[in-house]
Amino acid sequence: MFERFLFTSKSSDKTDGTKRHSIRTSRTSTPVNRILFLQKTIGNKAIQRLLNSSTEQKARNNQTTISRSISEETAEELRTRDYRGCNAVQDFHVDFARMRAPRWITSTISALEDHLNNPREIITVIESTLNRFFHPPPAPRGRIAGRHDPETLSIIIRRLRRMRQAIENPRLFRCVTRQTCGRENSDHDPNAYAYAGQGTRISICPAFFELGLNDQLSTIIHESAHHIGLMRNVIPRDEVINLPLNRAMNNAESYALLVTEYFTGPPAPPVPAPPVPLTTNWSIAYMSSQVMFNQPLNELCYEGQGQRHYLSEVRRSIEAPFPSVQPIRFRGQVRFYTDTTDMPMPQNYTLPEVRTQILFIPSDESQNATALYEHRDLHPGYLGPELPLLVDFSPNFDFTISQNGTVRFTFWMSDANEPFIAMYDDTIFVRPDNDI
Ligand SMILES: [Zn+2]
Repeated sequence: MFERFLFTSKSSDKTDGTKRHSIRTSRTSTPVNRILFLQKTIGNKAIQRLLNSSTEQKARNNQTTISRSISEETAEELRTRDYRGCNAVQDFHVDFARMRAPRWITSTISALEDHLNNPREIITVIESTLNRFFHPPPAPRGRIAGRHDPETLSIIIRRLRRMRQAIENPRLFRCVTRQTCGRENSDHDPNAYAYAGQGTRISICPAFFELGLNDQLSTIIHESAHHIGLMRNVIPRDEVINLPLNRAMNNAESYALLVTEYFTGPPAPPVPAPPVPLTTNWSIAYMSSQVMFNQPLNELCYEGQGQRHYLSEVRRSIEAPFPSVQPIRFRGQVRFYTDTTDMPMPQNYTLPEVRTQILFIPSDESQNATALYEHRDLHPGYLGPELPLLVDFSPNFDFTISQNGTVRFTFWMSDANEPFIAMYDDTIFVRPDNDI
């Protein structure tokens, strides 16, 4: 059976051409960005992101499109292939998108392979992108997040390789008329962009040529997934994000989103205004500091987003068994967040500075307090939605206490002009020497 690729819901008015683009308005599908794509080669993600952001504004005012402005003669010169059923202009555009899609897939495959072969403790951009569309199994109790098993990663990598291989075969592609498109795709929609079935050709419909380049690439990647037999057809991003893993594994758009968002970054923040900001620059609603204790308890503690859970709520006092002397080791990791998946950091958002302080105050009052883990980063880095801020000190702390006293954990975010916010401030009692 054929699966169509169309961004709108079935109930939308198909005669309204603008509506068809309303569900997915990719940042890079605008006409000016498209021109930039033609002028620059794709390959460097950083440059790509730069282009996207700098041309966004200009793009809104520009209504011409390359696909309409490129002449038949120019297309004759620039096209490198003659695709079945395509005219010269269509040849040029199919070629352009088809030659680039494999690079995008390759970029995702390399990142996934790297992730598979060199697992890191911190969640990387590829893992966060992957987890958006392919949900990892739930975390064991007390852990920060669940992670995919290597077998799942290997399956996804293998499928992406097969998709890439399909796209690299020009004979798989053909152009069809509006009429054929409407007759053959599963929804009988002449305005579909493209369609494909398991093992069939990838048919490109006329509406494909109204898309920006990124959406054309994404469409081709989506159809290549159908071609290799992944026939589930959930398309709107919001719904794809909610698919359970077993459904996502068979859903064409999950693969298309993984590849395109790894390459271009996630879409711009949603339109609804964020809650009233606490400061002029950011909203406390999305800020949190987390501390994952691995020792002496395995416990995720946090403060932020209207919630808090402190180590002292689990264990107010940590003691050596009586009567004995046993040094108490504390190990863990601190993380700071300024956003969530559903609300990425807005543009023009100033990151707060972050500070950590773990103090030991001995019971013996003749001795001074000791700073065990004291750091400050005035300009932490923003990696992406729901990723911890990148700090210039080690997020891991590890110290051992062999004297009785109290330990105070304080982690906070602030800026020069505002009071401290999103603070984690907790005190617990330690008694390594219980032989008094
Ligand atoms: Zn589809």
